[in-house]
Amino acid sequence: MADGKTLDNVIQAKQMGRANMKHDMTTRMRRGRSSQGIRNLLRENDLLPNHLILPLFVEENATERQPIASIPGVYRETEDSIVQIAKEAEEAGLGGIMLFGVSHNKDHSGSDSLKKGGLLDRMISRVKDATSDLPVIADLCFCEYTDHGHCGPLTETGTVDNDITIENIAKQAVIAADAGADIVAPSGMMDGQVSAIRSGLDEAGFEMTPIMAYAAKYASHFYGPFRDAAGCSLQKGDRKTYQMDYANGDEALREVALDIEEGADMVMVKPGMPYLDIIWRVRETFAMPTFAYNVSGEFAMLKFAAEAGCLDYNNALMEMLMSFRRAGAQGILTYGALDAAKIIKNS
Ligand SMILES: [Zn+2]
Repeated sequence: MADGKTLDNVIQAKQMGRANMKHDMTTRMRRGRSSQGIRNLLRENDLLPNHLILPLFVEENATERQPIASIPGVYRETEDSIVQIAKEAEEAGLGGIMLFGVSHNKDHSGSDSLKKGGLLDRMISRVKDATSDLPVIADLCFCEYTDHGHCGPLTETGTVDNDITIENIAKQAVIAADAGADIVAPSGMMDGQVSAIRSGLDEAGFEMTPIMAYAAKYASHFYGPFRDAAGCSLQKGDRKTYQMDYANGDEALREVALDIEEGADMVMVKPGMPYLDIIWRVRETFAMPTFAYNVSGEFAMLKFAAEAGCLDYNNALMEMLMSFRRAGAQGILTYGALDAAKIIKNS
């Protein structure tokens, strides 16, 4: 045997153990589970509304909120309905909301998001006017605003131009901060984006606006419903030249280290459930506020399974969200944020 014990030793030890247990079972793990009160006392992790961030899709110039077929229960909000949802989120005590634009003014570079009066500016301003303390997080990227669906303008060879994109994203960050965003969250996985944003914000006088970096974002197949929701499916190609290979773990630590060095105040791992190991490693390695994005595909799996009668939605949702807390996540971006806050309140 690997540790030098012979099989006979092991069998003998087991027999002795069993003999002892008859008379003297010192450890009974079930003592700690014997009543609800004791279970409450010994609960290691908590899940509160302020740990939850609700992602929201805001469709430009829409007159009615539209259900998204691929994520049951999630809507494309209008520029008016977003106000009501933001108020609900604040009342529920959520940790924040994150806004994604669904643009009808797309072009090669996503220039609508770089303009005062563009969708990014308008949706943040609307929500900030209607709420007081709710942290409003602006997702910063261009895929929702480009006509090809990539996360920045393309080079002649069809890949995203990293250095132009980070110059643009710094401007986008200033538009978002000026509109009142409490936190900016760059999601494009461009090299140097965090330092570009930090300098851009500082130069514009927004040195107190924190950056939540999508630090380890994988080229995942769990984003499918999001692309429906945000209307940012790719015309061609994929995102594998900028998002990470899902086979890699050490690389995530290097990505996170770089973002911290560049000035990230908080880091995020995306997706969530299939990457609990990464969340754990990031939290253990850097002791930074670490967020997990429980993405559309993960949430849709739960919803469709519940609709098919395979799972109880409320119970499975809480178990899923607690897994992120157990893995070390400070907070979770989840489409189930309002549902979970209600469940917590009624429990
Ligand atoms: Zn993007």
